[in-house]
Amino acid sequence: MIDTATTERREISKISLPGKGQSTLEQTPRREYQSLQHVRPPVSFESLTHGQFPEEEFWRKLPAYADIDRETFLDYKWQSRNSKTSAGRLKKLIGDFAPAEFFTDLEQGLSKAPMALRISPYIISLIDWEDPYNCPLRIQFVPIGNRLLEDHPNTHLDSLNEQGDSPTPGLTHRYFDKALFLPINTCPVYCRFCTRSYSVGMDTEEVSKVSLRVDYERWKKAFEYIESRPELEDIVISGGDAYNLRADQLEEIGLTLLAIPNVRRIRVATKGLAVMPQKILSDKKWLQALTTVGNHARKNHKDMAIHTHFNHPKEMTWISQQALGVLHERGITVRNQAVMQRGVNDEVDTMIQLVRRLSYINVHPYYVYVCDMVSGIEDLRTSLSTALNIEKHVRGSTAGFNTPTFVCDLPGGGGKRSIHSYEYYNQDTGIAVYTAPSVKAGKLFFYFDPIHSLSEQSRLRWSDPVEGQRMLDEAIRESKTSSSTVDLA
Ligand SMILES: *Cc1c(COP(=O)(O)O)cnc(C)c1O
Ligand code: SF4
Repeated sequence: MIDTATTERREISKISLPGKGQSTLEQTPRREYQSLQHVRPPVSFESLTHGQFPEEEFWRKLPAYADIDRETFLDYKWQSRNSKTSAGRLKKLIGDFAPAEFFTDLEQGLSKAPMALRISPYIISLIDWEDPYNCPLRIQFVPIGNRLLEDHPNTHLDSLNEQGDSPTPGLTHRYFDKALFLPINTCPVYCRFCTRSYSVGMDTEEVSKVSLRVDYERWKKAFEYIESRPELEDIVISGGDAYNLRADQLEEIGLTLLAIPNVRRIRVATKGLAVMPQKILSDKKWLQALTTVGNHARKNHKDMAIHTHFNHPKEMTWISQQALGVLHERGITVRNQAVMQRGVNDEVDTMIQLVRRLSYINVHPYYVYVCDMVSGIEDLRTSLSTALNIEKHVRGSTAGFNTPTFVCDLPGGGGKRSIHSYEYYNQDTGIAVYTAPSVKAGKLFFYFDPIHSLSEQSRLRWSDPVEGQRMLDEAIRESKTSSSTVDLA
């Protein structure tokens, strides 16, 4: 058990740390080393909060969960059954614990949102209901009317144009040797900022979705396509969320892909670890299916990894630590892809804490994305300059292999680019121009800072389509003259 009492325990020599999914290493006793010369300012153990996962029954703080015992809360079936999918049900659960106007606000938010509501008890109990407006977890999953902002004129529902790069429904082949397979369109929770707002989750008042539900015939076409393309070595199994595949479906997809000679690497993408770690600890069948696929990959000298999606340090608790410990013991690599969002993780300290906390539980921070230009989430987006600044602080704060690459998944389908590699960026108009020579040679791609981050004058210009086009034309001209590396021939 690693908790706030760590300091005390460290002074006792040779203790073992027992417990499920936890290290049994003997810890070196903590001593004072006053005679040594130090080159950096001293650091207290107490300040290293990223490694603290107190084993509290934190959910009991919420009156509705006060009587939920540990065994129940750790049961993924209970978590699924008690996930909330409507404002009414959430209100019934939270009641007076949240400010009175909050639920009216929520209903207004939902009527405009591109994503349906679905939120697990695990996340519900980590939300600060006394101040839900500013809670980084509420912001990600629960839309509220009075915080929504008008969309930038260049947002889209399928911002990355995934459908345009799909040879068969639910398979996107954009890059040379890797493809994205979407076998399912549901998730254990729904994130407001989902890249796949065009297909994931239930229809909303705003959006009827493209259906990519579980369909063996559709899957078969994707497998055939992958097999027909010898250059495809790397397949991302995403969705939706692989957590929602049944164990037998996960195993079937994994083993089928690994049996294709050209496939060398598969990744199972799931946000589940961040929003319902209980599944790893209590769904024996699903864990076994994942382990079977992982072992099969390894025996055949191929690779399977999990890509998950933590966005804020608060999402990691002792339950996540135990779940990640189980995966680590089974030799399963887990990488994280975070999405930068305003009010969630757009501060240097939060991002560094996220990276350190992930690393502590053996999750590699792989990417931090600037928020996609999806409709209905303008309030969540940050400017490119905010991301550039945070990246500068994160790099150098920890091990290089635990330092995420900050990327922009280019609107229109140019693929992911390091945010720093723009050909041109004008902070005044908020237009950044990128090229993607190995993905779509000769084409220019644009990312637009959110309108709320711009000066009054630029905001006005964006409200006029003619001015908007003028700013874009100027950015194109500038990007061609300002950089000698752009070859648009
Ligand atoms: C993100 C993505 C991949 C995987 O890209 P990596 O940079 O290797 O993580 C593959 N295909 C599509 C369409 C993607 O969006
Ligand atoms: S878990 Fe992933 S696919 Fe599902 S809603 Fe969230 S971002 Fe979208």
